[in-house]
Amino acid sequence: MFPLYTRRPPPNLLLPLLAVLSLLLLLALSAKAHAAGAPVEVRALHQGVVSLTDAVAVLEDPGHALDLAQARAQSYRYSGQADQAISFGYSRSAYWLKVELRNSGAAPVRRLLEISNARLSDITFYEPDEDGSYRAHHTGSAMPYASRDYPNRYYVYQIELPARSQHTYYLRVASEGAKLIPLRLWEPQAFAVHAQGDYLAQGIFFGMVIAMMLFNLVLFAMLRDRLYLMYVVFVVVTAMGLAAQNGLGHEWLWPAVGGRWPNLSAAILFSLSHATLTMFMRRMIGTRTLVPWLDKLLLAMVAWFLVSPVLLVLFYQQVAGAITTIWSITSPLTLVIALVCVWRRQRSAYYFSAAFCVLLVGNMGSALAALAILPHNLGTNFGAQIGSACEMLLLAFALADRMHVMRREKEQAQAMALAAQNDLITGLKLSEQRLEAHVAQRTAELQQANNSLALMSMTDVLTGIPNRRRFDQILAAEWTRAARQHSLLAIGMLDIDHFKKYNDHYGHQQGDDCLRRVAAAIDDQFRRGGDQVARYGGEEFIFIVPDAQPDTAMALAQAVCAAVAALGIVHAAAPGGIVTVSVGVACGQPVGGEEPEQLVHAADVALYQAKKSGRNRAMLA
Ligand code: GH3
Ligand code: MG
Ligand code: MG
Repeated sequence: MFPLYTRRPPPNLLLPLLAVLSLLLLLALSAKAHAAGAPVEVRALHQGVVSLTDAVAVLEDPGHALDLAQARAQSYRYSGQADQAISFGYSRSAYWLKVELRNSGAAPVRRLLEISNARLSDITFYEPDEDGSYRAHHTGSAMPYASRDYPNRYYVYQIELPARSQHTYYLRVASEGAKLIPLRLWEPQAFAVHAQGDYLAQGIFFGMVIAMMLFNLVLFAMLRDRLYLMYVVFVVVTAMGLAAQNGLGHEWLWPAVGGRWPNLSAAILFSLSHATLTMFMRRMIGTRTLVPWLDKLLLAMVAWFLVSPVLLVLFYQQVAGAITTIWSITSPLTLVIALVCVWRRQRSAYYFSAAFCVLLVGNMGSALAALAILPHNLGTNFGAQIGSACEMLLLAFALADRMHVMRREKEQAQAMALAAQNDLITGLKLSEQRLEAHVAQRTAELQQANNSLALMSMTDVLTGIPNRRRFDQILAAEWTRAARQHSLLAIGMLDIDHFKKYNDHYGHQQGDDCLRRVAAAIDDQFRRGGDQVARYGGEEFIFIVPDAQPDTAMALAQAVCAAVAALGIVHAAAPGGIVTVSVGVACGQPVGGEEPEQLVHAADVALYQAKKSGRNRAMLA
């Protein structure tokens, strides 16, 4: 099926999508900055939220040895990161964060502290009491969801600041993965509005994923094309990976699970997502036949993506960073291979490249925002998800297009097959007609040959008049007819006189010649329709005259004698000196049950009488 589905570029409607996404990424919201190290005034927040990253002082605890009292005694440095997140990369250290909050107003203020990274495994929030001691709130992805003070996919803490007060808050963060700590302070109402929008967006995304999954699952069930199943698996694995990454997995899918799984799951699921996407790509584009060498590379990538989950489980700390780096190589590589296929004019490759571009831009937006190269905004915060959603839609579109083109090609093939079938039928009919004509011609030829054979078999070779066999047929027919019509039938038996002597005297050759001339002379006498002469054997002839009276027959016989004598064939050995014939005539009315041989016999007897009476004459039986 695949070779058909190639070399036809799709409509060019994918570039606008890319442009829109890129615009979203560049649409930056400026972050409000504080003077580094100054206490944060919590009363009036810009649009209900403020980033705390530049107000946070940091202490690194490489050995995880400090408790709160020890940590408070240490000196902190200010992060000075004006962005919305503090990043410590893949360090194994624990980090202590300190922030001063002040309420200079006359009324107590309630605020929410949000750490919007779901993959921090171990977080302790230290909240100061009235008496100067601290209350610890311990949570993180390594603990069950129920350990959280506030129900949200991220980590949210409620803070009460009495009137005219200033307090120091501590956070201890330790994590297996990358330590990216986005820290924000919210007005509770603003946060509620924000959370509503956030969950609505997530709901839309996952709703779309479920719809795509179910739709393509149905398509797979109906079409039995494994490509649809690959797509379904890809969508499910990718969506679960995103859910694991953004905290919804922990909130809804595995709330009771703590330990390493919530952090590991995202990396494992993304690795499987890469594997299924690469498999999907290989099958959809048909790289095995189109670009065999690059296909081997893709296969190696699939193998790596399937192996890396095992490595992640065994050596997460050692390989997590490396695996992310490898993704940043394999992703552009995949795109390059797809573009090579585009260059080779593979239709599906157009869609795949566009889809993959969108995904890459989305992921890069998120990654660059995490590295503080791009600002945090709607586009970069949801970059991975927006990219992923667009990618899924584009791939689904590619599947639909593929089905459409394949159906059209099938129709064309069917039309061609039909035309070929019609050609074949026409050809068959033509050759059948030819064969029939040939057979008819052969049959006619055979008929002709049969006729001439039949004629030959009924004709005497020497004299050219009918032979004895023919005569027997004629006699039988005439006999039956005469019997039916109660009419007379006359027969004359002729024999050349002294022919033995003629032979002896002139030789057989001349004897034959004489036979021919005599036969012709006899035949001449029977020109009336229905009369027949035949050579009966040797030098004997016979004639048959239907519907003839005896005297008519006798007259004919005498005419024959005269005709032969008139030939004047010299016969030196005969008493008359010329060749003559004797005739015996028999005439009768056939009666049912009698045989015609009796009539022949009677004629023969009459012939004998004619011979005895002196030859060259006719006698009636
Ligand atoms: P008769 O007057 O009593 O009939 O005397 P005949 O000599 O004719 O006697 P018969 O009828 O018995 O003789 C037949 C002879 O006819 C014998 C044979 O040599 C000759 N003959 C028969 N068929 C052929 C033939 O096809 N060609 C030639 N050349 N001679 C034939
Ligand atoms: Mg004879
Ligand atoms: Mg004879």
